[in-house]
Amino acid sequence: MVQRAAILGAIVLGGVAVTGLMAQGLPGITPIEQVSEDVYRIPGAGGNTVVFVRQNDVVLVDTKVPGNGEGIMEQVRSITDKPVTMVINTHSHPDHVGSNAFFRENDNVQVVAQANSAARMSVASGPFPANPVDTTFTTFRAIGDGADRIELYWFGAGHTDGDAFVYFPDDHVLAAGDIYAWHMSPLIDPASGGSMLALPTTATAAYYNIPGAQRIIAGHGGVHSRAEFLSWITFNRGLVQIAEQTVQTGGTEDDAMDRLYAVPSFAVFMGSQPLPGLEYGGTPRSRARINLRVAMAELRGEEAPLIMNLPPDQQ
Ligand SMILES: [Zn+2]
Repeated sequence: MVQRAAILGAIVLGGVAVTGLMAQGLPGITPIEQVSEDVYRIPGAGGNTVVFVRQNDVVLVDTKVPGNGEGIMEQVRSITDKPVTMVINTHSHPDHVGSNAFFRENDNVQVVAQANSAARMSVASGPFPANPVDTTFTTFRAIGDGADRIELYWFGAGHTDGDAFVYFPDDHVLAAGDIYAWHMSPLIDPASGGSMLALPTTATAAYYNIPGAQRIIAGHGGVHSRAEFLSWITFNRGLVQIAEQTVQTGGTEDDAMDRLYAVPSFAVFMGSQPLPGLEYGGTPRSRARINLRVAMAELRGEEAPLIMNLPPDQQ
């Protein structure tokens, strides 16, 4: 398990051979699941791939780690014969853009990403090649009309500084990317502009500016209700407030953890067991500890670290 955590860390950092990654058995693709009338998700092999079936074509959100283009298409073909014409990426990490090249080989497939992510994707990173973006947006872009309409939003930094929210208004479904993954403390990638201090504001803006979003597909993990999304935002805001109190009073990380444990409504985000499918990624409470550490570093003006996992005694 520790080895897997190290491997996933290396994915994000772009520091490991892809073949090594696949050989280590990251959980693979599992069958496509219907989320709403026209929205589906394909779990596994990296982040969720969201499938939006339009009148004449198919739009994908995120393409998992490299080498999964055919596997994604196999799942898409089980529900429709319409052609894939567009890939939207929620952010630049290799477990979300890894199989873009498979789809770009077809000239008709257009890749869309937020401008900050597009800039990062335009250069190779470690073993991962550049993933060129054809169309970028800064804060908002609408694509298509009526039942085909897609709305792309950016509200600020969180997981990275290029986190796109992809909304399908006719289906009331929002693909949130990794700012909201596993319904627990999200990974913050400061090297890609991520910020724990900014995250609650960014997520709150998404909640109120996309009022129709009733079902939220996490970047990894499952599909959540609007009420669950709001409770998660409240937890993240509370975590930042507790980090502030702790820094102001000269407290320690353990003091801050005690303050988090003292809030009954936060218990669901402080579990001590790994989540099914995320055994490599630590426990909810270890991830809360990581984000306290990141927030406190940001508050002290220190360079915030990228922490993928903690040692066993801090799980
Ligand atoms: Zn990510």
